[in-house]
Amino acid sequence: MAGFRLRLRALPFDNQVFNYHLDGDFFNQVEKTEVRSGSVDITLQVTRKTENTYILQMACKGWLVIPCDRCLDDMTLDIDTDYRLTVRHEGELLDDSRDGVLLVPETWNELDMTDLMRDTVLLTIPIVHCHPEGECDPEMMAHLEEHWTDIEPAADGASDEVEKPLDDDKPSDAIDPRWEALRKLKDNN
Ligand SMILES: [Zn+2]
Repeated sequence: MAGFRLRLRALPFDNQVFNYHLDGDFFNQVEKTEVRSGSVDITLQVTRKTENTYILQMACKGWLVIPCDRCLDDMTLDIDTDYRLTVRHEGELLDDSRDGVLLVPETWNELDMTDLMRDTVLLTIPIVHCHPEGECDPEMMAHLEEHWTDIEPAADGASDEVEKPLDDDKPSDAIDPRWEALRKLKDNN
């Protein structure tokens, strides 16, 4: 990630603009996220105010492809977000406990922007994200409905058969078999 290091101490006392491009893989490098692909351009303007203080203004624009919560099919999420952060050399420890202020050890010459950029973009993904109403993959929705009906425990008591658990080979705290079925369905698609 050498390309995302900002050489703080070497910055001149004025504005500098840096451009970065993030692709889908970038978001899955540290841990797997739901990002399937993407393209986000980041313009980072850095203003060095004093020997120890820098104002960072990050503008992120682009798109991510993530799974729709309803039909599991790809959906595109537009990314257009800004983030402003004051970075200051102070003390010996990294401290990000204050909103909008990041204290970095005085001994640091560089700041790795990787986490800041990733988190700024990922935080814009809404907790619930779906295609607009009526735009989910109709085939997938039909499949899902069928499956949910199939797997739903026999609430009507019509079936006398005792079903063998679906997940013999898995620990007892395995995921809800319905979700397992959905996942299989998606994988086979
Ligand atoms: Zn959908």
